[in-house]
Amino acid sequence: MNRRRRIYEGKGKILYEGPEPGTLIQFFKDDATAFNKKKHDVVDGKGVLNNRISEYIFTHLNRIGIPTHFIRRVNMREQLIKEVEIIPLEVVVRNVAAGSLSKRLGIEEGTVLPRSIIEFYYKADALDDPMVSEEHVTAFGWASPQEIDDIMALAIRVNDFLTGLFLGVGIQLIDFKIECGRLFEGEMMRIIVADEISPDSCRLWDTTTNEKLDKDVYRRDLGNLVEAYQEVARRLGIMNENEPLRPTGPVLVK
Ligand code: UDP
Repeated sequence: MNRRRRIYEGKGKILYEGPEPGTLIQFFKDDATAFNKKKHDVVDGKGVLNNRISEYIFTHLNRIGIPTHFIRRVNMREQLIKEVEIIPLEVVVRNVAAGSLSKRLGIEEGTVLPRSIIEFYYKADALDDPMVSEEHVTAFGWASPQEIDDIMALAIRVNDFLTGLFLGVGIQLIDFKIECGRLFEGEMMRIIVADEISPDSCRLWDTTTNEKLDKDVYRRDLGNLVEAYQEVARRLGIMNENEPLRPTGPVLVK
């Protein structure tokens, strides 16, 4: 057996060398972290759910011409992706006030924003991912003005798609985070959506009850995280209720 080369390990995922040049394998861990790792637990089955939900969303984004790094899911916890140069920004899109926006500006959670707002955070764990402006992004060379335009256009398209997708299954998209990367194809370079889109990176509220179906369940100790994520997967028609979240052993054929 060969050991795969580990390229990178983050809080929720591991990247391994892929089967061909220009590809990687993205492995979804069961680790749940919040408040920059100050809270950390292993939540059995979370990785499987995020892998499936992210696969579903990225497949649809690819189909409607929003480029992503996703190629295909390979097993319960892994997907094949295109290797990109990650832009060190968390791009947050907000439709409704919640979380850090509510805290920082004193706006009650649940207040619909006058329009969708895009924010940039610099990816640096040691600094707790500080919010930055376009000025910082261009001055420090994290992305060019043209790249910022491309990132914002992608973010708005993703927001429109996700808002409609979730509304159709009785879920309000409050906010979400994406990461973007540079994909090099010969002489050409383009910005594509990378990382994952899952209940770990979105705020999802039930449209009638406002019940939270996202990582706030974990951050705020509101109940069972896996049940909330399973509910999102069930509503999207991705997994049926009885599907196992871990590999089952051999089944006796009668
Ligand atoms: N988010 C994320 N990763 C982060 C920070 C935020 O995926 O490291 C997501 C988060 O789940 C929410 C949105 O980005 O959907 C906005 O998060 P916010 O700034 O309100 O921060 P939080 O309250 O989560 O600390």
